[in-house]
Amino acid sequence: MLNYDVIIIGSGIAGYSAALRCLDHGLKTAIISSGQSALHFSSGSIDLLSHSPISHQLVRDPWSEISRLHTSLPQHPYAKIGVRNIRQAMSWFQSILSDAGIPMSSLPTQENHLRITTLGTLKPAWLSQPYVKKLDFDCRNLQDIKQIVMVSIEGFRDFQPNIAKEVLQRNALPVGNIPIRIVKINLSAFNQLHRNPNDFRSIDISRVLRNKQNFDEFSDQLSATATPDDLVIIPAILGNGDGLQLMHKLSNQTGLHFHEVPTMPPSLLGIRIEEALMKTFTHRGGILHKGDEVLGGKFNTNENKLQLSDIRTRKMGDLTLSAKHYILASGSFFSKGLIADRNHVTEPVFGLDISETGDRSFWHQKDFFTQHPHEFLSFGVETDEQFVPCIQGQKVHNLTCVGSVLSGYNPITHGCGGGIAISTAYAAAEKIMAERNPNIPLEARA
Ligand SMILES: Cc1cc2nc3c(=O)[nH]c(=O)nc-3n(C[C@H](O)[C@H](O)[C@H](O)COP(=O)(O)OP(=O)(O)OC[C@H]3O[C@@H](n4cnc5c(N)ncnc54)[C@H](O)[C@@H]3O)c2cc1C
Repeated sequence: MLNYDVIIIGSGIAGYSAALRCLDHGLKTAIISSGQSALHFSSGSIDLLSHSPISHQLVRDPWSEISRLHTSLPQHPYAKIGVRNIRQAMSWFQSILSDAGIPMSSLPTQENHLRITTLGTLKPAWLSQPYVKKLDFDCRNLQDIKQIVMVSIEGFRDFQPNIAKEVLQRNALPVGNIPIRIVKINLSAFNQLHRNPNDFRSIDISRVLRNKQNFDEFSDQLSATATPDDLVIIPAILGNGDGLQLMHKLSNQTGLHFHEVPTMPPSLLGIRIEEALMKTFTHRGGILHKGDEVLGGKFNTNENKLQLSDIRTRKMGDLTLSAKHYILASGSFFSKGLIADRNHVTEPVFGLDISETGDRSFWHQKDFFTQHPHEFLSFGVETDEQFVPCIQGQKVHNLTCVGSVLSGYNPITHGCGGGIAISTAYAAAEKIMAERNPNIPLEARA
């Protein structure tokens, strides 16, 4: 049997955040994860709270909206954590990523910003990476931009500048008042990728651009088509395995002002975050069992308290893993952290109690694109104030749930997935520390 202080199930943004905070506290920490996380499909920006869970209106100041949840929606994960702890968690996350070479920032006002998306719409977010232009809600910080230049890569289907240009001009005033020009870039090295469109994805391009000669040719073509007064919108095609290094180099070499947009998956902006978290975790001594799946666990009762004693995985067969504390960060339906059949929703690893789901007709709206939330997006594991779940009404005292496996919020409609994942993960690690050191006040801990 392998023994740890903490075992975390899942390696998305929630699993890695919980694991890194446990390492901060000196705990022997292992992650078991079956596969890729939602980060590979994400924008690479962190949503804190983009739309109000009460009025569903666009939110400019997420902090004041979060502080209202305590009274209006006490079951919301943010209400359980509290504004002060959420602030602490978010600034801790920023420092972890900054140390790993991916500094993420918000507007100086701490309000949400708008970012231009792949489709030319404006979408709110709270933290973005350095080469993502953070527009304030009045787009005042666009005044110094003379022209928008959109980079089109011959044969690349995952970013369509014609669509983005039309949508920006039609809908996104005042951005649409700025002249927009599409420039075509073609490298001889891309020709071999053209043959099969399935091999011409952002990660394939990033591989080609790792070659110095190809990179220089790409950089020279960009320099010839734009000036430092332009905003150059470029699909995220650099940085698979090397973080922001090549974006920094491109910026220095061309002197241009870039705005990266995520492409269709795989999204290099999200992959950069996952790689940075993974490298930091393993570099700091965390143990990562990637490509394995937790199938279930054994429970015992100690002093009348139900506890998870050990877990088994698909690959380790008879060898079980055990820890004093467990954190479930297995995600939502997308990552199979939740499973739905025709009439029921279940948490498949331990059979944890799920929030009330009602009749199937209540699960979703008739139209896919709708102003009203699809209810299934807020289904998940029901927990107490400290994110401790139950099995058939009995608390599992040494298990904590974090991230999108939790119920009580809608990450997509309200734009809060990243913020909830980070802050619940941080709160879980602090809870574990408080249990291990009940006499040390919170402020005195690392
Ligand atoms: C497509 C998509 C795009 C999104 N984009 C954004 C965005 O741009 N910004 C934002 O803030 N939010 C975004 N979100 C919201 C998202 O819910 C959160 O941001 C966040 O990524 C959820 O993280 P998580 O760690 O809870 O879950 P996930 O990222 O889903 O990770 C779950 C992990 O658990 C593993 N796992 C599952 N079951 C097991 C098992 N039995 N054994 C071992 N491992 C297991 C999975 O392999 C995976 O590694 C997006 C969501 C989706 C679905």
